[in-house]
Amino acid sequence: MADKVLVCKDCGAEFTFTEGEQAFYKEKGFENEPQRCPDC
Ligand SMILES: [Zn+2]
Repeated sequence: MADKVLVCKDCGAEFTFTEGEQAFYKEKGFENEPQRCPDC
């Protein structure tokens, strides 16, 4: 797995969905990637 750059749905800013965060999401069983940057 690699870091991914996602675009925030609210403000349009790019933010990084890191490997560690992806692992955390997977562990929690979340199917969706984050839609918003940490600021939103
Ligand atoms: Zn945002």
